[in-house]
Amino acid sequence: QEGKLRQVQKMEAVGQLTGGIAHDFNNMLAVVLGGLELAKRQLHNHSSPALRHIESAMEGANRAAALTRQLLAFSREESLRLEPIAAGELITGMSDLLDRTLGDAITVVARDIGRGWLTHADRHQLENVILNLAVNARDAMEGRGTLTIVTSGTALAEHAVGRCPAGEYVTIAVSDTGCGMTPEVMERVFEPFFTTKPVGKGTGLGLSQIFAFVRQAEGEIGLQSEPGKGTTVTLYLPRDATASVSKAEQIAAVPEPVA
Ligand code: ADP
Repeated sequence: QEGKLRQVQKMEAVGQLTGGIAHDFNNMLAVVLGGLELAKRQLHNHSSPALRHIESAMEGANRAAALTRQLLAFSREESLRLEPIAAGELITGMSDLLDRTLGDAITVVARDIGRGWLTHADRHQLENVILNLAVNARDAMEGRGTLTIVTSGTALAEHAVGRCPAGEYVTIAVSDTGCGMTPEVMERVFEPFFTTKPVGKGTGLGLSQIFAFVRQAEGEIGLQSEPGKGTTVTLYLPRDATASVSKAEQIAAVPEPVA
């Protein structure tokens, strides 16, 4: 319980912090990157050591920009466009991206055993969540193994998973055949900045961001993992039963989100 509280407090602190600085920081990084890009173009001698220095500075700045983007996802400034989404279709639409991200030695299996249920979410945000889970899986499998994504729907009793209320949920289960997690790691994975990855590789923000996403959607996240066997992360997103008629009609009827 205390761990949960610490996690929520930390998340709120991150949200406040980022609201203030991440935006400005991103603009400053754009200036840095722009300047480096210009310097690189003006450098005609391609064997100059200066080129290497410029490139490693750009790499660092790009990493900082990626981190800032992740931080921005915490702040409320990000504008969301909620729409009815069929999880199976969303995953199918990502198959090229997933194949490219995971590399040849990882097999991606996508199975939709849903009943055509829809959930309400921001498409871009949900795609980011899936991509984040896939990258974690890739790291855990050290580039080799099977990633399975099963989309479905289920009716849950009150508090069957975490704190979610009774109801119907669209589920997205992302499984890998990677290194798995110890119970100690499982306890902490949703905490912002918790990472077991080396500096520069992990930010420790992926899963806490996903936690914030499902919480905001009034869903839940399930975690199963066994060291040496693999991990399954399951997203439970509330079904939107009113959005089953015509997708186009529904999208037209969705009001603009309140900022
Ligand atoms: P990051 O990936 O930047 O470390 P995350 O919040 O996404 O941040 O993950 C936190 C930690 O949880 C990781 O450092 C890793 O130890 C563990 N983890 C996440 N996903 C998996 C997975 N699929 N298999 C094994 N461990 C995982």
